[in-house]
Amino acid sequence: MIDNRQTPHCRVRAVPIADVTMLGGFWKPRMEANRLRGIPRLLQLLEEHGIVDNFRRVSGRKDVPRRGPLFTDSDLYKWMEAASYVLQSSNDADLDSTLDRLICDVVAAQGPDGYLNTYFVDERASERYTDFAHNHEFYCAGHLIQAAIAHYRATGKRRLLDCALRLADHLTSTFGPGKRHGFSGHPELEMAMVELYRCTRRTEYLEFARYLLDQLGFSSRTAFQGHAVRAGYACCGAADYFSETGDAPTWSALEKLWSDMAEHKVYITGGLGSRYEGESLGEPYELPNLRAYSETCAAVANAMWNWRMLAITGECRYADMLERVLYNGFLSGVSLSGETYFYINPLESSGPGEPWKGERSHERKEWYTTTCCPPNVQRTIASLPGYIYGVADDEVWIHLYQPSRLKHRLGSGTIVLEQETRYPWYGEVKLHVRKAPSGRLGIVFRVPGWTDACRASLNGRRIPNPKPGTYCTIERRWAPGDRISTSFDIPVRLVEAHPRVREDFCCCAICRGPLVFCVESVDNPGIVVQDLFLPPRPAFRFQYRPRLLGGIGTIRFNALVADQKVPLYSTRGSRNIHLKPASILAIPYYAWANRGPSSMLVWLPRADCLLPRT
Ligand SMILES: [Zn+2]
Repeated sequence: MIDNRQTPHCRVRAVPIADVTMLGGFWKPRMEANRLRGIPRLLQLLEEHGIVDNFRRVSGRKDVPRRGPLFTDSDLYKWMEAASYVLQSSNDADLDSTLDRLICDVVAAQGPDGYLNTYFVDERASERYTDFAHNHEFYCAGHLIQAAIAHYRATGKRRLLDCALRLADHLTSTFGPGKRHGFSGHPELEMAMVELYRCTRRTEYLEFARYLLDQLGFSSRTAFQGHAVRAGYACCGAADYFSETGDAPTWSALEKLWSDMAEHKVYITGGLGSRYEGESLGEPYELPNLRAYSETCAAVANAMWNWRMLAITGECRYADMLERVLYNGFLSGVSLSGETYFYINPLESSGPGEPWKGERSHERKEWYTTTCCPPNVQRTIASLPGYIYGVADDEVWIHLYQPSRLKHRLGSGTIVLEQETRYPWYGEVKLHVRKAPSGRLGIVFRVPGWTDACRASLNGRRIPNPKPGTYCTIERRWAPGDRISTSFDIPVRLVEAHPRVREDFCCCAICRGPLVFCVESVDNPGIVVQDLFLPPRPAFRFQYRPRLLGGIGTIRFNALVADQKVPLYSTRGSRNIHLKPASILAIPYYAWANRGPSSMLVWLPRADCLLPRT
């Protein structure tokens, strides 16, 4: 989470996590699952797999072999960052002391020169800084710095921050213009260095971020390509750097890269990464479904990037993308229990027992050899209260709709604002002013781009024409008891992809509000989901079901099931495919794969394409 309260090139500033209280709703149960189950369990696993012992080994506290791939330090750091965000929103003495204990282990592993990495020590010390493309030393350093800042902001304790500063000083004194050259094989250190500058106001860290971005050739990038997480993290670092400096070439590159991402390369779920090869982005419109890679960490990167673009510009399209990622391609990365995770988030699964059995059954796991995604999910969920609101001079912004209370001190006094809503299942939101500063204040609320129409009123009096895809501002002197009511039309929508997305050609995805829906075999027994077709005029019935999958909205619709016993290739007009009507249930995409192995489909083909009129 960033603290851009003193950042010059910034339209909307973040509010501290501690200023937001979640009052039930969609995300609070997920935050609770994260805090009570996911975070404690992952620490057990980090211990069981020797990831914490790797630090104790370096300090001599334990005589054990080093375990895990060379980037595992970052997994513990991300866990520590997640735990620190939990401490920013709640008092948890046990978690506080667990962090203190782990911090002792981390700090004890630091070398006298500030170097800290549990892999390149002893017999591998000579390999330090020899392979920037693969060795992840800068990446791990970045995650340590982010964890340290989060811990310092949560507790005021400096021990981990001082450790991070020693490492940062080691890096800035070793690398840079006129010194040794190094680069981020996996970007991450860029955003950490900008945040360290924000935390300390020491300009050498900001300059070092500039150096790292220059080493990547960031400002000359024109295409969003390569490893999806790395490409996304580089953009996050660049956006942070721009927001502090106003560097025009950096902004120009960011705009080009964002357009390339949003117009050509992002899944409807907000996921990024079309190829298993190199975990990478594909060509424009290359968006396979069964073989989507869409790593959970890439969704986190996309969320962080859009959050930064939103802060810089105040433009709704970035909030729309942030929301799309959070409710779909990010949230699919974690089970409803909060304890198992996807690394890869496909938009189709053939599951077991299906005609093409060769494909894997896709289920979440609690641990991966490369376990980058689980702690990345955890730090994102733990920091969610910080994404809901924003502030500017004499303005309070509402980016995301969730039952919550903001209590924040502005220059002119304290604002207390409460949101009441059943979003994302229903489109009504009430904003109650509980306390307001004495002067004029703008309340700026988002009208999501996915809605066709929004009605809004202030204390019962209608506000004219809030436009979808924009922020709507009401500026006045506020008094306790004032209320803004908004209602976004939230129909079921059939969404089509650009015709050049060949995999989705002649297909539609079922969407409602910010959610993408899918058809999962568990809900539709006896039907192979890959045989489903949409009739010309499907009828949709939305229903909120409190006892299904932790409480979800479902969509029932009439579909056609094809008997596709035809040859692989037939002369056009010669084959005979029978279609039978069926009643089908769709669930939100994020909720799939929570009931054992299954098959699943997001993009449904249209029957009129199967049987074209001649
Ligand atoms: Zn990952």
